[in-house]
Amino acid sequence: MEQFDAVIIGAGAAGLFCAAQAGQAGCRVLVLDNGKKPGRKILMSGGGRCNFTNLYVEPAAYLSENPHFCKSALARYTQWDFIELVGKHGIAWHEKTLGQLFCDDSAQQIVDMLMAECEKGSVTLRLRTEVLSIERDDNGYTLQLNGAEVKTPKLVIATGGLSMPGLGATPFGYKVAEQFGLNVLPTRAGLVPFTLHKPLLEQLQTLSGVAVPSVVTAENGVTFRENILFTHRGLSGPAVLQISSYWQPGEWVSVNLLPDTDLSAFLNAQREAHPNQSLKNTLAMLLPKRLVECLQELKQIPDATLKQLNGRQQQALEETLQNWRVQPNGTEGYRTAEVTLGGVDTHALSSRTMEARNVPGLYFIGEVVDVTGWLGGYNFQWAWASAWACAQALAESRR
Ligand SMILES: Cc1cc2nc3c(=O)[nH]c(=O)nc-3n(C[C@H](O)[C@H](O)[C@H](O)COP(=O)(O)OP(=O)(O)OC[C@H]3O[C@@H](n4cnc5c(N)ncnc54)[C@H](O)[C@@H]3O)c2cc1C
Repeated sequence: MEQFDAVIIGAGAAGLFCAAQAGQAGCRVLVLDNGKKPGRKILMSGGGRCNFTNLYVEPAAYLSENPHFCKSALARYTQWDFIELVGKHGIAWHEKTLGQLFCDDSAQQIVDMLMAECEKGSVTLRLRTEVLSIERDDNGYTLQLNGAEVKTPKLVIATGGLSMPGLGATPFGYKVAEQFGLNVLPTRAGLVPFTLHKPLLEQLQTLSGVAVPSVVTAENGVTFRENILFTHRGLSGPAVLQISSYWQPGEWVSVNLLPDTDLSAFLNAQREAHPNQSLKNTLAMLLPKRLVECLQELKQIPDATLKQLNGRQQQALEETLQNWRVQPNGTEGYRTAEVTLGGVDTHALSSRTMEARNVPGLYFIGEVVDVTGWLGGYNFQWAWASAWACAQALAESRR
């Protein structure tokens, strides 16, 4: 039987960062993971370059039943703290767009950095390890592993959400929460492409690969301005991924394909200058040609010259292009979702330490908790910040 000051289940972003911080503060830490490699999602993230944080992190960029919960951790370990750490490790980075920071080179650098930090804290990492059972008594937690038994007064659950089962995602964390009587809020896929009903999908099939800068609005009024991307399954692109976290089955979203254009002023000016120009060619000045052609085939754009376009048609056109209402059929689900919404109810946790209020020594950090960020580095920042808060508590309890 081995004994550790803290055992962390999950060698992802949150688990590794927590282990490193607690280890460096003097705790004897064991990290367990069922996978072959640590930080598998980090390696896949940001197209292989890891969007590791965002310059504009703020609590409003996170979804949770309890929107105040994330504030303390985000304020105590900020994006600037993580940027400083990345700098210390000599990792070059750049801002891509909207404050999103990516490695210049590779996401592997972030994993290497976390492993180096763990090494500095003398953290023990065991991969390919299944946790078969967890028991708690007055002395703490006893974990039965495949082939070993470990004891610890502090158990940290950092097993993430359900998104991308191919990268090792399991419902383990939710089961542990339930075992110890914590409420788990219903989960669903977030930051995920929409699928469309068959007739609409078939009509839009020729558009696969076309991207359009748009403003997308959910039924609850939340809005994102970024690209939408037509795919062979439906709609994707950053604006769609963002809005998917605010979408419930059966709801509509509205898409403004020309958010920066006063369409009637534009058409009136063009009509004045080129009355015989086709509407199709006029709109192709503003939108991808393939989109205009497709919409004309679907009779959403009249086959007319500008001078033939009547007021009613122009109004209908504005509605189509600037308030296109789409009812998604569903989402692509956990298979391609970047995150999982819902999870361990934050009302059961301390926002300062991430410890379960009624279960001393049990902590939940990272994505397993009901805190989900926007696309753009916000989810990693939550992983770092919640891990840091927990690590401070682990360190304090040793003093
Ligand atoms: C393809 C993709 C790209 C992404 N890109 C970005 C990005 O660029 N920026 C950003 O901010 N966010 C991104 N995200 C989201 C981000 O990866 C997660 O929010 C973040 O990894 C959550 O960290 P975590 O430590 O809580 O969980 P994870 O990183 O998922 O780590 C959980 C760990 O627990 C292990 N585990 C699970 N079940 C068990 C079990 N039963 N026993 C033992 N171990 C277990 C897993 O193997 C895994 O190593 C992306 C997600 C995906 C899927």
